[in-house]
Amino acid sequence: MKATIIHGARDIRLETVPDPVLQSDTDAIVRVVAACVCGSDLWPYRGIAPTKEPHRIGHEFVGIIEEVGTAVETVRVGDFVIAPFYYCDNTCINCRNGVSTSCLNGGWWGANDRDGNLVDGAQGERVRVPLADGTLVATPDVPDAALVPHLLTLADVMGTGHHAALSAGVTEGSTVAVVGDGAVGLCAILAAHRLGASRIVAMSRHADRQAIAREFGATDVVEERGDDGVAKVKELFDGIGADCVLECVGTKESMDQAIRSARPGGMVGYVGVPAGGPELPIGTLFNTNVGVRGGVASVRGYIEELLPEVLSGTLTPGRVFDLELPLADVADAYAAMDERRATKVLLRP
Ligand SMILES: [Zn+2]
Repeated sequence: MKATIIHGARDIRLETVPDPVLQSDTDAIVRVVAACVCGSDLWPYRGIAPTKEPHRIGHEFVGIIEEVGTAVETVRVGDFVIAPFYYCDNTCINCRNGVSTSCLNGGWWGANDRDGNLVDGAQGERVRVPLADGTLVATPDVPDAALVPHLLTLADVMGTGHHAALSAGVTEGSTVAVVGDGAVGLCAILAAHRLGASRIVAMSRHADRQAIAREFGATDVVEERGDDGVAKVKELFDGIGADCVLECVGTKESMDQAIRSARPGGMVGYVGVPAGGPELPIGTLFNTNVGVRGGVASVRGYIEELLPEVLSGTLTPGRVFDLELPLADVADAYAAMDERRATKVLLRP
C-alpha cells in the first residue's frame, strides 16, 4: 500500500510500504476513507521538531473496517469508524479518569506498539489499529460523503477545541477570547459557542479565517497581537479581559497573549502543542489569580458526546477544511498549510 513518510524538514514522500496485517487478536485493519494534515505535523515539517530518521506520519483518519482480530467485540467488518489521534483501551484507570491520552496500554500512530510492531500512520491507505474496541467509534450507518469532513474533525481538532473550552471552564454566559485561528482555534470558537458563551473574540489576521470564525460563533475579531492585542481584548471586556481564554497555538508568544488576555480570576485553557518554549509566569499568575489548565486532549472521550450533533448536521466543524487533495499529493498538502494557502487539508487515499 501507499503511506506517507517524513524524511526530514520539508521532505514528505508517499512511498510503497507493506500492507498492514493483524498482529494481535484485539487489532483491526481499517481502510482509510479520509485523513488530513494537522497543524502539529508542521512542527517536524518545518524542522522545529527534528526528524532523526524517516518515519510514518499522520494521526487523523476515518475509514471502513476490513478485518478484525478474534477478540474484537464492539466494532465489526464494514463499520465506518472514527479513530482518535492515538489508540487506547478505554478501560484502564487513566482512561476511566478521562485521560485516555495517558492510557496504560495505548500509544501513537506511526510508531511501534509495546510489542515492537509498527502501528501505521494515518496518512496512508490502511492502518492497523491496536485495541480496536477501545480506540474506534463506529457510526450507526456508513455516512454520506458530505458528512465525512465533519466526522474527521472528531479525530482531533474538534475534540481538541472542545478540550480547550472545557479546560477554561466555558459555560453559559462566559466571555471568551481565542488565541489562534488555525483549525483548532476555529473549532475552539465553535465549542465555546456550543457551550453557551455570550461573547467570543477571535484573534485573527486572515479574512478567510475570520469569516469561518464568525460563522462558528465569534462575535468580535481582534487583529492586533502582543501589547496591542491584549489592550484590544481588555477594552472589549470592561477593561479587565475575558473570563476564559483558549490558547490554540503553543508558542511563547501565544501563551503570553492568552495569559494577559484573561481577567483577574480568569482561566486559560491551553491545547496548542508546545513549540518554541512557552513558559508560565508564576508571578503574574499569582498576582492576578489567573489559572492555566489543559494539555493534550483526550478526544476519545469526546467523540460519543459530539457525534450525534455532527450526524444531525447541527455541528459542522468540517468547515475548517478548505482544501481537499488526493493522498498522492500529500507533499503539496503540507506545503499548502506551511505557506498558509490552506487552513487544513483533507486527504483522500
Ligand atoms: Zn487506557
